[in-house]
Amino acid sequence: MELSYQANHFPIPSSLFINPNKNFFVLDHVKYKYPTKSNVLHHHSTSRNTSSIFRQNKLSSSALYTSSHNSVISEEGNQENIMSNTAGQVIRCKAAVAWEAGKPLVIEEVEVAPPQKMEVRLKILYTSLCHTDIYFWEAKGQNSVFPRILGHEAAGIVESVGEGVTELAPGDHVLPVFTGECKNCAHCKSEESNMCSLLRINTDRGVMIHDEKSRFSINGKPIYHFVGTSTFSEYTVVHVGCVAKINPLAPLDKVCVLSCGISTGLGATLNVAKPTKGSSVAVFGLGAVGLAAAEGARIAGASRIIGIDLNASRFELAKKFGVTEFVNPKDYSKPVQEVIAEMTDGGVDRSVECTGHIDAMISAFECVHDGWGVAVLVGVPHKEAVFKTHPMNLLNERTLKGTFFGNYKPRSDLPSVVEKYMNKELELEKFITHQLPFSEINKAFDLMLKGEGLRCIIHMDH
Ligand code: NAD
Ligand code: ZN
Repeated sequence: MELSYQANHFPIPSSLFINPNKNFFVLDHVKYKYPTKSNVLHHHSTSRNTSSIFRQNKLSSSALYTSSHNSVISEEGNQENIMSNTAGQVIRCKAAVAWEAGKPLVIEEVEVAPPQKMEVRLKILYTSLCHTDIYFWEAKGQNSVFPRILGHEAAGIVESVGEGVTELAPGDHVLPVFTGECKNCAHCKSEESNMCSLLRINTDRGVMIHDEKSRFSINGKPIYHFVGTSTFSEYTVVHVGCVAKINPLAPLDKVCVLSCGISTGLGATLNVAKPTKGSSVAVFGLGAVGLAAAEGARIAGASRIIGIDLNASRFELAKKFGVTEFVNPKDYSKPVQEVIAEMTDGGVDRSVECTGHIDAMISAFECVHDGWGVAVLVGVPHKEAVFKTHPMNLLNERTLKGTFFGNYKPRSDLPSVVEKYMNKELELEKFITHQLPFSEINKAFDLMLKGEGLRCIIHMDH
C-alpha cells in the first residue's frame, strides 16, 4: 500500500510505503521499524520527519523515536541495524554536478552504483564547503577533472556495504574523510604518519581504486569522484578506509565540520605544531581551518595568539576563538614576518599557515623564532607554487613542517575528536555561520568566495 500525505513543516519524501504485515515501513528507500517495547529510542534531530508522518497517518507516534534514517537506538544505547532495501541496487538521487570549471553546479539526477569490494555507500545528510572544493571547482591553480561531484566535508549514514566490509554496517553514523587509513601499510602502522600508502589524498583521481571506475553516472556517462568522497550527492560511494564510524548520538549537522576543516586546523596545532603552555602562536588565515588552529592554541594554553588575515572582517569573528592580536599585512609597508618578529622579540614560538597562499607560507616560516620556532603549513598550494627561503633560516634552527588532516588518522582518531565535542571540550557551533538547502548550494560557493562567514551547512534533504 502506498500512502500520500500533505507536508507542512518537513520536506516531502519521494516515497512512503507501508506494509501492514511487516514490522517496518519504508521512507525514501530506507526502512524504519515500528516501535516495540525494546526499541523505544532516544529523540534525535532527524526524528521529526518520521513522527510527523505517524501523526499524519494516525498511527501511534508517541513511542517512536528514530535515531537516524535506518538505525534505531535502544534506551541502553545499543544500535540495531536494519538492512537497507536498496542494497545491491542502483540508486537514483540528486547530486550537484560541476560540469565545467568555475560554472555554477547543476543539481542533476544521477545513478549511484552499489558499493564494490571494500566500499560503502553512504546517505549524506549534511555537507559543508571547504576552500579545497573551491580550488578544484575553479581549477585555476589545480588540475581540471570534469564533470565531477565535489564535496568532502560531510556526515551521513551507511546505506549498504560491499564485499569484504566487516567494520561497518547499514545504519552506522559516519564521517567520510578525504584521506584514508587502510590500517595495513607502513604509514598506518607508524604512530607518526597519517599518509596511508593506499588511501592518502589524491586530488587528481576521479575513480574508485578497486576497478578504476566511477560509481556515478548520468545516462551511462561517468561523472567523476573528488578526493574519494564526493559528498555533494544524496548518496555516494566511498572506500571503507575513508570512513570514520562515530557515536550515533552525535548531531550530524554539527559534527560534519569535523570531517575536514576543524579537525585539520585543530590537529595542525595540537598534533604537529605542539605549542607549550604560555607560548606565542601566529595563525595565518582566519577561515574555519585557521580558527580551529587558533582554538588548538587556546586549548594548549598559548598566551599570545596572533591572527593574520588580509580580510579585516575576519578579526571580529576571530575574537570568539581566543585570538589575542590581529595583523593585516595590508596595513604595513614591510613584510609581515618582520612585523611579527618585532611584536614578539624575535619571532613566535609556533606558526600555523591556513591560507593556501605561497607568500603567507613563506611568511609563516620566516616569522618563527630561531633556535626553536616551528612553522606548520596547512593551506593547499597552487600546483606551480615554489617555496623559497634562505637556507640560513633553517640552519638557525627553525623547523618547517606540513600536514594533511592535522595528522589525525581518520578511522582511529576521528571518533575521539567527535567525543571532545560531545564532552563539551570543543565547541563547533561557533564555526557554523550559515545554513542552506541543497538546492541553493551555489550560494555557499558565493559566501566563501566573498570571505563571508566560516562554515555553511548544506542540508541534503531540502
Ligand atoms: P577560507 O577561505 O575560509 O579561509 C582562508 C583565509 O585566508 C581567508 O580568511 C583569507 O582572507 C585568508 N588569506 C588568504 N590569503 C592570505 C594571505 N596571503 N595572508 C593572510 N591571509 C590570507 O578557507 P578554509 O576552508 O579555512 O581553508 C584554508 C586553507 O586550508 C585552504 O588553503 C584549504 O585548501 C586548506 N585545507 C587544507 C587541509 C589539509 O589537510 N592540509 C584541509 C582543509 C583545508
Ligand atoms: Zn577540506
